[in-house]
Formats: sequence, structure tokens, C-alpha cells
Amino acid sequence: MNFLPTLIGCFAKPVAENPTVVMMEAAFRHHGLHYLYVNMEVSPENLADAVRGAKAQGYVGFNCSLPHKVAVIEHLDGLGESARLIGAVNCAVKRGDQWIGENTDGKGFLNSLQEVADPNGQHVVILGAGGAARAIAVELALAGARKFTIVNRSEDRGMELTTHVTRNTPAAAVFAPWTGPFAIPEDAGVVVNATSIGLYPDVDVMPEIDLATLKPEMVVADVIPNPPYTRLFNEAENLGCKVLDGLGMLVNQGATNIEYWAGVSPDKGVMREALARLFG
Ligand code: NDP
Repeated sequence: MNFLPTLIGCFAKPVAENPTVVMMEAAFRHHGLHYLYVNMEVSPENLADAVRGAKAQGYVGFNCSLPHKVAVIEHLDGLGESARLIGAVNCAVKRGDQWIGENTDGKGFLNSLQEVADPNGQHVVILGAGGAARAIAVELALAGARKFTIVNRSEDRGMELTTHVTRNTPAAAVFAPWTGPFAIPEDAGVVVNATSIGLYPDVDVMPEIDLATLKPEMVVADVIPNPPYTRLFNEAENLGCKVLDGLGMLVNQGATNIEYWAGVSPDKGVMREALARLFG
């Protein structure tokens, strides 16, 4: 028997059941893809070594989460268009001998939205101005959204994203300070909760908006994946709006990762089912 040169590791399992691992492994199994998706906790001071290790061990790519989404850029050879515009990477892809940083968070949201509406020409209200809001705003602007209203608690972050969108994309953006129940402008077509409000275990809270200003023709989307049916989701659905849960964004970004790494368009239904089972 011939043995390839290997280094076979034994490591402690870093976390309990990680939803992304469950979702990706379900897709690999379903398509008979011989890939493994493993979750490793990496501290900021070990990021450079971890990326070197991934490259040395023949990974085809990796995801990275906060706080590595910006810091990882200096360890890569180049960036895809939206990752460059967003200034953050959540997915690294080996293309030939180059490691390219992509941002699939915004693409995941865009693909989820496109299942119910076309962002082209829309006025989009985004609640929040953090990493998720930035990825969503840039990707929707690249897909033709006409205008953004960025609603945020802290003015600094809200203004920063507003200026970023105006300067770097064809869309217009205005900042609205979040000082009380926010009234959704009448011409808005899409409303997105891109804050962490409603994330488990704080499931009873919802973003402060004037529910009377939501109209049935609006799409109301929540980025919170757990629980998938947030209070905002339920209230908007009761008002007759088209609703999108955070699983849609998560599944679609995962599907794009698999397309980049394995060249296969995975069955999103299988991925969603795996998550739905996990979140009960
Ligand atoms: P950040 O920390 O970068 O940003 C958080 C945002 O939420 C900020 O705008 C912050 O406002 C706002 N915020 C938080 N708490 C409150 C509050 N009590 N009242 C008002 N505003 C608040 O986080 P991310 O953007 O990276 O992530 C946001 C959420 O998106 C997370 O819950 C994450 O799970 C989810 N997410 C989901 C994905 C999916 O695939 N479904 C993918 C990526 C993220 P301020 O600036 O004032 O602090």
C-alpha cells in the first residue's frame, strides 16, 4: 500500500453544533461531494498562522467570521468586486495559485430577495449599519437599488455607511437617526432588519418601527437566522407584507460558497431543511 505524505491531526472539537457546519455538511452529503467543512476557533493573534495552515493543508477555501473579516484581507492575493467595495471578506477561495477574498453575505441576501422581488429601482430601508448592513447595501446597490435609507442608533456608524454607499456605488443614500419608532417612508419597497435585535435568546424584542407605516406591497426581511421567525417577521406577515427570514440569507451565502469552492450549485432546500431541524 502506498501512503501519501500526510499530517494527520487530532484536535479537540471547538464548539458544539455549529449551524453553518450542519448546513454545509448536509449539502456535501446530499451531492456526494467529498469535502469536509470544519469549524476552528482562531484568535486574532493566530490568524496569519491559521491562514498559512489552511493554504499548506490543501484547503480549497474557508469562511471567516467576525473579527477576522477585515484582518484576513492582508493574507490574501486579491479581492472580488463586492468584497473590495464592502471592505470585508467572509469567504476565501483558491483560484489557481491565488487566494481571492469574496463577500458572500450580501450575495446571500440578494439571492434570497430575488426569490420574491427585484431590487432594481427600489428604495431600500436598512435598519443597522454594521457588517451585515454594509454587505447588503453594497450588493443591492450593485444590483440596481436606487436609494437607501440607513437607520442606525449610533450616528457615526450610520453616517459612515451612508457616505460609503453614496461615494462607492451608483445609488443614493440618506442617514436617519434612530431615536424612536421609525416611520417607513411611503415609497420604500424593501425593509431590512440588519441589526442583531431579535437574535436568540432575546427573542421577544423587535426593531422599533412604526408598524402602521408597513404596507402589504413592501418586502420585510430579517437577517436573524435564529430564531428564523422573529417578532418582526411575524408582525410583518400579519400585516400582509412579503416576508423573508434570515435562513434565506444564510442558505444562499452557503450555496454561493459551495459554488465557489466545488463548482456545484447545491440544493438549497436540503440546506434549509438541515438548519430548520437544528433550530426546531
Ligand atoms: P455588527 O456588530 O457589525 O452591527 C450590529 C448593528 O446592530 C449595528 O448597526 C448596531 O447599531 C445595531 N444594533 C445592535 N443592537 C441594537 C439595539 N439594541 N438597538 C439598535 N441598534 C442595535 O453586526 P453584524 O452586522 O455583523 O451582524 C448583525 C446581525 O446580522 C447579527 O445578528 C448576525 O447574526 C446577522 N447576520 C446574519 C447573516 C445571515 O446569513 N442570516 C449573515 C451575517 C450576519 P450601533 O451601530 O448603534 O451599535
